[in-house]
Amino acid sequence: MSFDALFAPSAVGGRTLPNRIVAAPRFLRLSPEAMRAWFARRPGAGMCIVPGAAPHFTGKVESADPVLGEAYLEDFRAVAETIHASGARAVLQLSHAGAAADHPFALAASPMWNPQTKRRAHRAPVLGLPAIFHAYGRSAYLAVKEAGYDGVEIDGGGLSLPNTFFSGVINKRRDGWGRDRTRFGVELVERVRSYLGPTPILAFRLSLMDFDPEGPAWHEILTYAHALETAGVNCFSFALGIRRGEIPVQSAMTPPGTWIPVMEQFANELKSPVIFSGPLPAPEDLHELLVRRPGALVEVDRETTADPAWCAHVRADEPVRPCMRCAGGCPVHRPDEGLPACPSDPAAFIPDWEKPRAFASGKDVIVVGGGPAGMSAARAARLRGARVRLIEKRAQLGGGLLAAAKLPGQEGWAKLARDMAEELERLGVEVTTGVQVDAEWMIRKRVDAHVILAVGARPVIPDIPGIDGPNVLTYEDLMTDGVPVGRRVAVLGDTYAGRAVSAMLIAPNGNISREAWLRAWGIGSPVRHPGGMLGFVPHIELPMRSVTLISDRPGGVGAQILNTPRAYELQWLRMNGVQTVDDARFDSIDPYAIRIRVGEDSKEQHILRVDHIVLAMGCEPKKELANALRALAIPFEGVDSQTTPQNAWRASWALRNGFEAAMRLPD
Ligand code: SF4
Repeated sequence: MSFDALFAPSAVGGRTLPNRIVAAPRFLRLSPEAMRAWFARRPGAGMCIVPGAAPHFTGKVESADPVLGEAYLEDFRAVAETIHASGARAVLQLSHAGAAADHPFALAASPMWNPQTKRRAHRAPVLGLPAIFHAYGRSAYLAVKEAGYDGVEIDGGGLSLPNTFFSGVINKRRDGWGRDRTRFGVELVERVRSYLGPTPILAFRLSLMDFDPEGPAWHEILTYAHALETAGVNCFSFALGIRRGEIPVQSAMTPPGTWIPVMEQFANELKSPVIFSGPLPAPEDLHELLVRRPGALVEVDRETTADPAWCAHVRADEPVRPCMRCAGGCPVHRPDEGLPACPSDPAAFIPDWEKPRAFASGKDVIVVGGGPAGMSAARAARLRGARVRLIEKRAQLGGGLLAAAKLPGQEGWAKLARDMAEELERLGVEVTTGVQVDAEWMIRKRVDAHVILAVGARPVIPDIPGIDGPNVLTYEDLMTDGVPVGRRVAVLGDTYAGRAVSAMLIAPNGNISREAWLRAWGIGSPVRHPGGMLGFVPHIELPMRSVTLISDRPGGVGAQILNTPRAYELQWLRMNGVQTVDDARFDSIDPYAIRIRVGEDSKEQHILRVDHIVLAMGCEPKKELANALRALAIPFEGVDSQTTPQNAWRASWALRNGFEAAMRLPD
C-alpha cells in the first residue's frame, strides 16, 4: 500500500514541510548532545518539536532546569541544525510548567494544590504577567532569529500556565483575567507573534478536553481557538486532561485512534492546520485520515521512540516495531537516576546497545535465565565477541515478557520475546531450553566460561495456615503457566502484580471497542459535555469475576500510585467492581475461603468465600544458585533482579541490567 498522503509536502504558516509527520516534543531533560543524537537517529519527519526550556523562571518544571536564554542558545542552535540536516523543520516548544512546577514559585491563574508535586501553585499576580509575556516573546525571538528555528509551539495544555487561565476548573478569578478566560492565551500569542514576525510557525498546544465537568464547553474552546488564530497562531496541536494519570490517555488499554474523531470535529471549525495525536491508529488509517483532511498533520511520539526508522518503514510499507505502551509511559529522563531501556528500542537510551565494546580476546560465556535480562546479557556478550550459551529452564525464552503478554492490551510483549529470541539465533547464541541449572551442572559444563546469572525472582509466599492448599496460586501460576481460576478470587498484595492480576481477572474476552472504552471512563463528546465528561456514573459491563484485592498495609489500596500517572489503574479496578481491603491480617485459608481481620487490633474475623487465592505480595530474588556458586568459588556476574514475571515496566530495567552485566565482564 502507498502512504502518499503522509509523505506529501504541506505548509504551516510561511513554511513548507517536506511531509506531514510531526515528531512530538519528548524527553525534556536529555542533554544537548543526547537531544541531537535523538533527532539524528530518527530522521524522516517533516517537522520536529523540540522540548524547550521554560521561558520564565516561574515556569521551570524543577528548580534546577534552565531558563531559555542566551546561555543555552548554542545548544538549541545545534539541535535545530541537526533537525534541518534531516530535511525537517525545527520548532521549539515554549512551556511554562504553571501548576505542574515542582518548586516554590509554581504559578496558576488561581491558587491550587497539586497532589502530584505536593506543592501549592500561587495565584499569578497581575503585575507579574507582563514580565511573563515578555519572557515568552523574547524566547521566541531567540529561538527563531538567533537559533535558527522555523517557529515555536506554545504549550497550552494540562497544568501549563496558559491552560490554568483558560480552564474553568482552575481559573476562579474575578478580575478581567477570570471574566475572560481566553485573555491570557490571546495576549500571550499576540506578544509572541509580534516578536516573530508574520511567517514563522506559531503552533499552540490546546487542551481539547480537561476531563472535568467544570472544563470549558465546546463553544468556549472554539471561541478561544478562533481568537488565538486571529492573534497569530497558524497551527494547533492537542493536549488532553489537566490531571495526569486520572484518565489513561495513552495507555496500553486505550484503543488506538481514540481521540481522532474529537480532533476532527475541532478541525472542521478552524482554518489552520491541526496536528492529530494520541495513540495513533495503523498507518493505513493515518493515510485515510490525511486524505480526508488535506491540510492536517499527524504527531508521532512513542511510535518513533520505539522504532527510530518508523517513517522509513511506513514509507516502504514495511512492518514497524510497535511500542509496548509500558505502564507509566516512557521513562522520564533524570540524569542522576539513569534510565531503563525502551523495550522496543533499547538503543534509545543505551548508547552502545548496537555496538558494545568488544572483548580483547576470545571468551566463553554462559548465561543462566532466558527472561529479558538473560536474553539482553546473552546478546550483548555475543556482540562483544564471546561464544555464548544461554540456558533457560522453561521450554521457551521470554520469562516475564511472556507473562506480561497475558495482560489486557499487552500482547506485544510476546512478540518482543520472539524477536529477541530470533535475534539471538541470528547472532549465533547457543540456546538450550528445558534445563534447570544447578551447581553440579556448572561443575560439569562450565569449564572456564564466564557465568552471568539472570535467574530473576519468585513470588513471596507468606506464612498463613492453609497456604499450601490447592486453591492458592501465585501470580506466576496465572500469568506464566496460565493455571485456570474460578469466578470468585481474592488477590493478596497491593503491588503492581496484584493490580495487574486483578485487571487480568476482570478483563472481558477480546478487545474493548472505542465506544465502550470511552463510556466506561465516563467520557462523552466535548461538543455536548463540558470537559468531555458525561458527568454521571457510566454503565460498566459486568466483570468476568468477582475480585477482592487485599493489602496487608494500612493507608488504602493503591495509595502509592494515587498521585502518579498510573492512578488510572486503581480507578479501572474500582470501576469494574474490584473490592479493596487494606490493613488486613490473614488468619487462615480454608478450601473455599480466606479468613481475615482488618486493622491492627481488630478481633473480628471476616470470612471471604472465594474459589481461589492469588498471592501477589511481592517477589524475592532467587539466590540458591548464586549461593551455591559462591560456596564453590565459581565467579559469576549477577543481574539485579529488578524484574518480576508480571512487571512489564521493569522489563525495561531488565534489558538494561542484563546489558550492563555483560559489559561488566572483563575485557
Ligand atoms: S519506553 Fe515503553 S512506552 Fe516508551 S516508546 Fe518504548 S516501549 Fe513505548
